[in-house]
Amino acid sequence: MKLFGTPVSRGIVAGEVMRYAPFRAEPSASRIDESDVGTNLELYDRAVDMARLELEDLRARLAPRVPDEAKILAFHVEILSDPVIDEEVRGMVRTGLMSGDAAVAAAFDKYSDLLGRSKRVLMRERASDLRDVKNRVLRCWAGEKEKNLSSLDRPVIVVCDDLYPSDTLSIDRGGVLGIIAQTGGSTSHAAIIARGYEIPAVLGVSGCMGCLKDGDMVVLDAERGEVVMAPLGAERAAYEARAVRVEAEMRGVRRWRGAEPITRDGRRIWVGMNIAGVSDRELEHAPSSDGSGLFRTEFVFMGRAGVPGEDEQYRIYRRALEAFGGKPVTLRTVDIGGDKRLERFGLPKEENPFLGLRGLRLCFARPEPFGAQVRAALRASAHGDLRIMLPMVGSLEEIARARAFIEEQGELLDARGVEWNRGVKIGIMIEIPSIALIADLVAPKVDFASIGTNDLCQYLNAADRLNPSVESCYQEYHPAMFRVIGDVARAFASHGRELGICGEMGGDPLVIPALIGLGVEKFSMGAASMAPVKRAIRGLDMASAAELAGEARELGTAAEARECLSAFAARSSPDA
Ligand code: PEP
Ligand code: MG
Repeated sequence: MKLFGTPVSRGIVAGEVMRYAPFRAEPSASRIDESDVGTNLELYDRAVDMARLELEDLRARLAPRVPDEAKILAFHVEILSDPVIDEEVRGMVRTGLMSGDAAVAAAFDKYSDLLGRSKRVLMRERASDLRDVKNRVLRCWAGEKEKNLSSLDRPVIVVCDDLYPSDTLSIDRGGVLGIIAQTGGSTSHAAIIARGYEIPAVLGVSGCMGCLKDGDMVVLDAERGEVVMAPLGAERAAYEARAVRVEAEMRGVRRWRGAEPITRDGRRIWVGMNIAGVSDRELEHAPSSDGSGLFRTEFVFMGRAGVPGEDEQYRIYRRALEAFGGKPVTLRTVDIGGDKRLERFGLPKEENPFLGLRGLRLCFARPEPFGAQVRAALRASAHGDLRIMLPMVGSLEEIARARAFIEEQGELLDARGVEWNRGVKIGIMIEIPSIALIADLVAPKVDFASIGTNDLCQYLNAADRLNPSVESCYQEYHPAMFRVIGDVARAFASHGRELGICGEMGGDPLVIPALIGLGVEKFSMGAASMAPVKRAIRGLDMASAAELAGEARELGTAAEARECLSAFAARSSPDA
C-alpha cells in the first residue's frame, strides 16, 4: 500500500515508524465520590512530584549551556510549590468533589486567564508559564513521558499530524531518518528546516496518522513523494537500489559546496546562508558562504521556556557575526505569527494567521520584546557587519515607524553609554505584494531589501503555503512572480540599492539562472542548497540568463516556465 504527499526534502530511506503527537491534556470533567477524595489527592501529589523531578533534571542539564532558560525552569518549580494554587486545587477536590486532574486544569486556568488579561507584557508572559506548568502536571497525571524529537534511542521515521518549526529545529539529526506529516507544504518552516538538515521529508500525506502505527516498517521516497508500507522482495530491492543512486547523485552535487559562485563569463554572484540559530550544527557550513542573508531570529525565541533577554540575544547575534568571520550577517527581526506560534507573545486566536498580526505588525503591538531585540542587535553591530532586516512590511509608513523605533532604541543605548554602529544598514523583506508594487518608492527609503519568495508567492497567488489542498495554486514559477521580481530588481538597481532573494526560490538551482537574468545577484538559502546553486551558477553566462528571464516573463503558465527552465538547466551543466 502507498500513501502520497509533497516531497519537500530529497532522499529515500527505509525505517521504523515513530508516531509523534505532542501531549494534549484532556482532563476528565467528572465529579468524584467523597470516598475518592483521598485517592485523587494522592494522585495529584504524585503528578506534582513527577513534574518537579522532570523540571529539576532539565534545569540541571540546561544550566551550564543556557542559564537564562534554566532560571525559567527554576521559576516553574516555584509555581509548582505555590501555596495559593495548591490550596485552590485541594479545595476543589475536597469540597467541590472535582477529580484531581480537572481541579489542576481549573485552578491553573483561573490564574493564567487573570494574568493573560493584564496589559503588562511581563504579566502575560507569566500566564504562559502557568499554562506550561499545568500541561506538565496533567501529562504526569496521565503517566506520559515528555516527548520531543531532540534525543531518540533508535533511528526512526517520524510520522505526525503537523510539525511545529520548533520541533524541527531541535530535531535529533542522527535519530530522525525521515519525516512524514499530514499537513504542510514545500515552503512551510518545517520543510525549510528539514531541507537545511538534509532529512528526507514528505508533507501533506493525507491519512498518514490513521494508517501508520509505531513500529511499522516503511520506505519513505522523498524523490517521488511516496510512502510505501512494508515493501518486500523485489519491490524493496528496487527502492534500495534507487536510494543508493540518489545518495550518490547528492554526494556528487555536494562537491560544489566550496566552489566559487562565478558565471562562465566571470560575474561573481553572492551566495549566502539562511540560519535559524547559532549552534555548531547550524553554522557548520558558514565558511563556504558569503555571509548570512537571513537569520530567522524568531527561532531563537522558540522551543524554549522563556523569551531570551537583551543580553542573551546580544551574545547570540555576536556569536553569529564571529562564525561568519567578518562577512555580513542579516538579522531579521522576529517574524512570529503564521505557522510560527509563540505563546509568550500572547498571540490572539486568528481565523487567518498568515493575514494577521505577524512579523513587524506584531512587533509594533509588542514594543517591549521588540525593543530588547533591536537593542541587542545594535549592540552586536559594534562587532561586525550586522544588518537589520524587517519582515512583513506593507507600507512606507511602516518603514518610517520602524526606523524611528530603531533610532529610539539607539538613543536608549547612548543614554546607557553603550557602543553601537551608527551606520548599521536597515533593510526590509519584500514579501507583501503592496510593497513589491511600489519598489521604486521603497528603494530610496532603505539600505537594502531581500525578496521573501515564500510569502510573496502565497500572497500573490492567494494560496496558503501550508495547505496541501491548494498546493497546485501555490505557483513559484507563475509568470506573475517573474514579472514582480524583475520589476523590483529594476527599481532597486536604478536607485543603486542592494537586492537579494532569501526565500526558497533563492535556493532553487532550476530557477536561479532566470532570477540572475532578471537582475538579482544575491541569494541566501538553506545550507544544503549552496552546492546545487553554485553548480548552476557556474554553468551559465549573463547573456543567456537574461534571455531566459525574458522568456519566463512572457510564458503564460508555471508549467511552461518549468519546462523552459529545465531545458536551460540541461544545456547549461558545468559538468558537460
Ligand atoms: C519568505 O517569506 O520567503 C521568507 C524568507 O521568510 P519566511 O519563510 O521565514 O516567512
Ligand atoms: Mg516570509
